[in-house]
Amino acid sequence: MSDKNTRRKFLQYLGVGAASCTVAACNEKTSNPTASSTVTSNQTFNWKMITTWPKNFPGLGTGAEFLAQTINEMSNGRLNIKVYGAGEIVPALEIFDAVTAGTAEMGHGSAYYWKGKNPALQFFSTVPFGMTANEMNAWLYHGGGMELWQRAYQPFGLVPMAAGNTMVQMGGWFNKEINSVEDLQGLKMRIPGLGGEVLRLAGGTPVNIPGGDLFVSLQKGVIDATEWVGPYNDLAFGLHKAAKYYYSPGWHEPGTTLECFINEEAYNSLPSDLQSIVRNAARVANQDMMLEYVARNNDALETLINEHKVDVREFPTDVIEKLRGLSEQVVADVVGSDPFAREIYDSYQSFLAKSKAWYNLSERAYLNMR
Ligand code: CA
Repeated sequence: MSDKNTRRKFLQYLGVGAASCTVAACNEKTSNPTASSTVTSNQTFNWKMITTWPKNFPGLGTGAEFLAQTINEMSNGRLNIKVYGAGEIVPALEIFDAVTAGTAEMGHGSAYYWKGKNPALQFFSTVPFGMTANEMNAWLYHGGGMELWQRAYQPFGLVPMAAGNTMVQMGGWFNKEINSVEDLQGLKMRIPGLGGEVLRLAGGTPVNIPGGDLFVSLQKGVIDATEWVGPYNDLAFGLHKAAKYYYSPGWHEPGTTLECFINEEAYNSLPSDLQSIVRNAARVANQDMMLEYVARNNDALETLINEHKVDVREFPTDVIEKLRGLSEQVVADVVGSDPFAREIYDSYQSFLAKSKAWYNLSERAYLNMR
């Protein structure tokens, strides 16, 4: 038997060489790092995922675990990802830099945490009075949003993916009633992203502290108010024990995208089938998190109201109208600061205009009549 035949038999024995695959073609594929190859596809990868959430925190931390587990199952154990909670390897708000540096291969957070890097990144989390979760995902997957996001993270050596969405959030926890815009003045509130800048223009002081520190900060009076996510998550942190009024709706976060991002070099080292598994597992995790929030939020809301006697309020109309005007100003400032920010927001805004027109006739019309 010739050497070539011996090699072909060997590949067939391994069950990895397609019968029609000539040895020459197989060798060619093996030498191409971007193609899925029979040799590299058997390699096992062990990765770390660092997160901005407490380990296994409902919805967010468990969403990161779900993503890791789904990738492990879909890859038949060829890509193993160990998930670390905030502070286990690096503090919550340092994961972006740590994945760029290669300290971990993967991170799980939300893009507005990195506004210090570039204010335009906030458009990939959420925009006050902007898109809902469905609209956001439609823009990302079918409206050019994902390509813009990839371009935005490229200078940091990161590959971003949507990996969850909170749906419409709650407006937050306050120790006093919010009856007018004046009640926001001097208010020190934990509120991240563009919403925080809106509060600043309204006379308040926005701060961003990681979720795990919210309860103590509110209870000790380090902050006067906080928003987090919604009933399912807020109940888990016990925020009702530190503030009396729970305001609706989350004008500042109408459908916040959670992300996973991957060190570009690590991503490029994967064979293409594992890259596809990561991308598609992220889509599954993205969808699953939304459904979990839909399924859990109302039960948690009932517990907050019935067991913990939480006072649920709606923001007065004139407060909302004021915040809407300030939101436009904040977005205009970001867009005016950088041509790429304008390109991202133009894409976002023109997609929103179209989906709004259709939603008015479909979702909104139906919800109003239900
Ligand atoms: Ca929030």
